[in-house]
Amino acid sequence: MKYYILFGPPGAGKGTHAGAISEKYNLKHISTGELLRAEIAAGTELGLKAKELITAGALVPDAVVEGMIESAFDTLKGFDGFLLDGFPRTLGQAEDLDKILAKRGEEVTAVISIMIPDDLIRERIAHRAAIEGRADDASEATITNRIKTYHAQTEPLIEYYKKAGKYHEVAGWPGTIEENRARVLAMVDSIQ
Ligand code: ATP
Ligand code: MG
Repeated sequence: MKYYILFGPPGAGKGTHAGAISEKYNLKHISTGELLRAEIAAGTELGLKAKELITAGALVPDAVVEGMIESAFDTLKGFDGFLLDGFPRTLGQAEDLDKILAKRGEEVTAVISIMIPDDLIRERIAHRAAIEGRADDASEATITNRIKTYHAQTEPLIEYYKKAGKYHEVAGWPGTIEENRARVLAMVDSIQ
């Protein structure tokens, strides 16, 4: 079974390219951000708690997203593996993912990292806010905090996966969405 991690700062294009990658390699796409937004839309208790953190530009607790990931792993039917989008986002989540997979006799296959500079994160999120109206895209303060959260808590994963020999990076800019998608798919092809 393949376990790919789709990695990158907010607005890198993870959600934008996930569909093409998961279709091409017959992977089940799991986005923790989308799962959390579904909880918020359904008005669950978890959703209410998550909304506060997400709107502040913070992360939800590791245990919450890890629970969602473990349940998703149990639903595999007819796929060759998973594309984890937006997970792991902390060192704790990365270590726990290794343990969760080890219990299943599996391991992370590779990290597909899409990189963009900070000023482009701002530009893309501001653009997306106008289109999608996501609460966590709305204010400057939230976006600033998400960028800080990314550098402080998520960026250290790059070293973690480099040490494991699993880190593969591609530029998520410049160019059109299609040009970027072609670049990302070419990179994934090269690591097969
Ligand atoms: P994209 O590259 O697709 O634009 P994004 O970073 O803008 O991605 P999501 O991945 O959808 O957005 O995540 C939205 C929010 O959900 C995060 O800012 C965070 O608060 C929460 N979240 C998502 N995944 C996790 C996770 N693994 N751990 C903790 N919080 C998470
Ligand atoms: Mg996303």
